[in-house]
Amino acid sequence: MSDVRVRFAPSPTGVLHLGGARTALFNYLFARHNRGKFLLRIEDTDKERSTDESTQAIISAMNWMGMHHDEDIVVQTTRIDAHRAALHKLIDNGHVYRCTCRPEERAAEREAALAAGKTFIHRCDCRDGQCRPDAPFVWRFRMPREGETVFDDLVQGHIVTANAEIEDLVIARQDGSPLYNFVVVIDDAFMGITHVIRGKDHLTNTPKQIQIYRALGLPVPQFAHLPLILGLSKRLRSAGVEHYRDQGYLPEGLINYISRLGWSHGDQEIFDYEEIIEKFDLASVNRSEGALDLQKMEWVNQQHIQKCDGARLAELVLPFLSREGVAVAPDDPRLRPAVETMRARAKTLVEMAQNMKFYFIADEGLPLDGDAVAKFFTDTTCPLLHQMADVLTAVGEWKEEAISAAVHGFIESTGLKLKDVAQPARTALVGRAAGPGLYETMAVLGRESTLARLRRAAPGLC
Ligand code: GLU
Repeated sequence: MSDVRVRFAPSPTGVLHLGGARTALFNYLFARHNRGKFLLRIEDTDKERSTDESTQAIISAMNWMGMHHDEDIVVQTTRIDAHRAALHKLIDNGHVYRCTCRPEERAAEREAALAAGKTFIHRCDCRDGQCRPDAPFVWRFRMPREGETVFDDLVQGHIVTANAEIEDLVIARQDGSPLYNFVVVIDDAFMGITHVIRGKDHLTNTPKQIQIYRALGLPVPQFAHLPLILGLSKRLRSAGVEHYRDQGYLPEGLINYISRLGWSHGDQEIFDYEEIIEKFDLASVNRSEGALDLQKMEWVNQQHIQKCDGARLAELVLPFLSREGVAVAPDDPRLRPAVETMRARAKTLVEMAQNMKFYFIADEGLPLDGDAVAKFFTDTTCPLLHQMADVLTAVGEWKEEAISAAVHGFIESTGLKLKDVAQPARTALVGRAAGPGLYETMAVLGRESTLARLRRAAPGLC
């Protein structure tokens, strides 16, 4: 056990989207790699937008990805007393002041700064005690005006900010309810966080937070700001982890893909979870933005489908089969072998379920593709399929080798070639002209279904 303590600190205002999942994952990987602690803090101070459903959705998405947090969850709104105490400390030692300026009073200044491409920095006389007595106010933090705030970001490098460019930020409302940059410092310190790993969108908050740490005499953690994630539509970027789960991604496929959004280990693309944990380090996180790429995501998932244990893959595909309208019992003897005929090609569990449902549909109800029927069920091929069925009745043990031997014997006896019967037979068995190998399909379907489906073949059927 090391003293590394990191946290994931989502605001429960929606789903766990891929960016959030990547932040959580990098924290998790860093903690596990260093044998430290991975903590969870729910930042629910925005009461109007925070919901319990969102908290539950975030936790369940994290669990699905195998990111189990250590220790109790810290819920930010339960810490209000500690936040108020810290505010009073800052009031007492003169680090904050009342500001009675109204935002609309600064609108013109703000717009002028924006028009000049500059960041608006609030400056006012309230800092020198010249605010309106008895007017509503907020608490502003008194930033130093001289010097620089410097820190070494573990991803972004040496970051220097002139203090003159840091605004006296509002840290609490008049009623003492604190705002983000303030509470995050109090809570990170309370939780003993050693490394703050979060998105680069927070980089400009860090100098402000460092000044607050110093004013409170708290140890400043190390920071690592992760590159942003671009690409895809905004809708897909902000879709939750459960969207990808429902699209048929394996947790390890999604984890592998997300881990590579900013992190690399040589040219290696495919990693097991344990391997990512072993190899992960912040020094190998790039500064440049990562772009989402659906094709790549599917390819990575496909590699994990190929590696997945058969029994687990069978269990994972079951709900997707039922979504396709096919109820398959978990102990159906066709399930495991059916999965084996599919795993090499399927990019997602959805695709796998769609392609394998033909095995489980009642023979007489198997839908037949009209084009395939028109092309392959002819006056010459259909009698051949019926003859093939007759030949197959004689197969002893219903295994792929014996089936293959029987079909080959039949083809030789008729002077035909395999291609003359393969597609017609596949159409009869699968319902369309694409599918796994003919003999493995027959082996999984079983003798009865195979014969029934071959004998169903008639020109113009469907
Ligand atoms: N609640 C913040 C967010 O979701 C956390 C920021 C941080 O990690 O400090 O962006």
